[in-house]
Amino acid sequence: MENKMKNTDKFTLINELARRRGFFWQAYEMYGGVSGFVTYGALGAKLKQKIENKVREFFVSNLGIMEIEGPIIAPGKVFEASGHVDNFKEPMVECLQCKKKIRADHLLQETAKLSASEAEKLSLKEIKETIEKYGVRCPDCCGDFGEPKYFLTMFQTTIGPYSDAVGYGRPEAAQGIFVEFRRLYEMAREKLPFGAMQIGHALRNEISPRQGLIRLREFTIIDIEFFFDPEDPECFILKDVEKEKLRLVLAENKLRGSEEIVETTVKEALEKGYIKIAWQAAFMALAKRLLMDLGVPGEKQRFVEKLPWERAHYSKQSFDQEVYVDRWGWVEVSGHAYRTDYDLKQHMQFSGVDTRVFKEYEKPVEKEKTFVKPLMAKLGPAFKGEAQKIAEMLLEADPEEVEASIKERGYYMLGQHRILPEYIEITREKVKELGRRFIPHVVEPSFGSDRLFYVALEYAYRVKDDRVVLSFPRDIAPIQIGVYPLVNKDGLPQKALQVRELLANEGFAVEYDDAGSIGRRYARADEAGIPLGVTIDYETLKNDTVTVRDRDTWKQVRNSIDNLPELLCKYFRKKISFEDLGNPV
Ligand code: AMP
Repeated sequence: MENKMKNTDKFTLINELARRRGFFWQAYEMYGGVSGFVTYGALGAKLKQKIENKVREFFVSNLGIMEIEGPIIAPGKVFEASGHVDNFKEPMVECLQCKKKIRADHLLQETAKLSASEAEKLSLKEIKETIEKYGVRCPDCCGDFGEPKYFLTMFQTTIGPYSDAVGYGRPEAAQGIFVEFRRLYEMAREKLPFGAMQIGHALRNEISPRQGLIRLREFTIIDIEFFFDPEDPECFILKDVEKEKLRLVLAENKLRGSEEIVETTVKEALEKGYIKIAWQAAFMALAKRLLMDLGVPGEKQRFVEKLPWERAHYSKQSFDQEVYVDRWGWVEVSGHAYRTDYDLKQHMQFSGVDTRVFKEYEKPVEKEKTFVKPLMAKLGPAFKGEAQKIAEMLLEADPEEVEASIKERGYYMLGQHRILPEYIEITREKVKELGRRFIPHVVEPSFGSDRLFYVALEYAYRVKDDRVVLSFPRDIAPIQIGVYPLVNKDGLPQKALQVRELLANEGFAVEYDDAGSIGRRYARADEAGIPLGVTIDYETLKNDTVTVRDRDTWKQVRNSIDNLPELLCKYFRKKISFEDLGNPV
């Protein structure tokens, strides 16, 4: 057993343990299992909820971010507007012999030893050339590959029985926030900055997922969209986080082929311009603290800046928060993107709904303003029944943008309508401006719940005296307390069941176990990561005291049953230590 633990990597050991103890396993096992789908069992579902609640504590309770819950399926228009239909695709190659399909950039990382960044940059033509240059063949049957192709990794469906009502499973929860912006802004009392968060399933039809919880086809995403005024980007939580140290791998170093870690405080990272937006830096600091609370030390975390071609299409600056894991090395657990006004602007164009906000000046300002006047005499013949609607949309459009586009390209695109110069009149007038109308900018921290789960499990995994102990931080442990009668006779089980009921009624997650020797029961509890064990023995019957055992040190203290609820409450809120559980209140 010990040798097996030494020689097998943690990923394998954890997956075995997870299956055996009911944390998670591959879904649809009775039909052979399907890659990229998992089922969380009783312990796993609870642990995942606890992790997600930790995220809520950080962002909803402490920062006042609104949590919302929207649908998983969206009409095609939403993802056309967001740019996903055009961009959310991965390069793929198919073996001509066995028909196996493999994600091309991953294949080239493994066979041609390209870095992730080098592989991601390649065009389809370059992928083909690299395959030829290195003589890459199918890892299963040694067959040749056909032409590389792009594969859209969104799941496509139809909404209702209408084949033209195309819908997509959301690959991120962010769009569900952007499309509700107007209502959310109202709920935020029309004030910036504010944020909204969604925790929910996301679907990505990954080409060849083989990394367990790290790469799933259905996973839980935690997207936070934080809206702010780009001309007033002040971050009101900066004081709390400015001294937090971040370990950064900067794009400029990556370009020189170096993964050098630049360790800076949040304050310094902003002063030196490593991170463009204060809110983004603040969220990165909070993300570091969150991971530390899940059991991942700061030195096992880093933030890697994405190069322009590695960034998602909507992002102006992105950092991936990475955690070091035994099997896979550095793995992204969250992405931090400065999405600018990209998404709200796109949705405004595609839907015609104004996503701008109005901010009043302290004093009115006199300004020369550009106006766009729609000429109905021209719009009418050009757009017929739609002319009136287009005229109204033109009055809502940003006149500076209309003018600039007409100057640059000779036309302006209003949604899908091409507006020619002769359809409008552009004038300039002096006006008193009361305020400014603009589209808010957005920074987005985006976490993968399943990856948080995996790293929490890996960092909790320890071997003590040849036994596995899952040392979860006490506030995320799926079961908090095990209750045990020392032996199965003389009224001890009845007393233990009373204690179990008392603690369960106080809101603790409790497990009662009377099967086998007490040593075996402790071992089982350690392996499930239960922080405390409460044992009922013969002394309990005399004076109503019990022993409390610590999972990590195996130390024991004694206290009366009456004292437990209050002390345990403080213990799980991290207000007192284990030793304090033995002191009278
Ligand atoms: P992205 O939008 O690609 O930056 O993804 C946001 C977060 O979701 C990442 O940081 C990961 O933690 C998580 N994630 C992305 N893709 C997957 C996947 N296929 N399986 C599990 N988690 C994922």
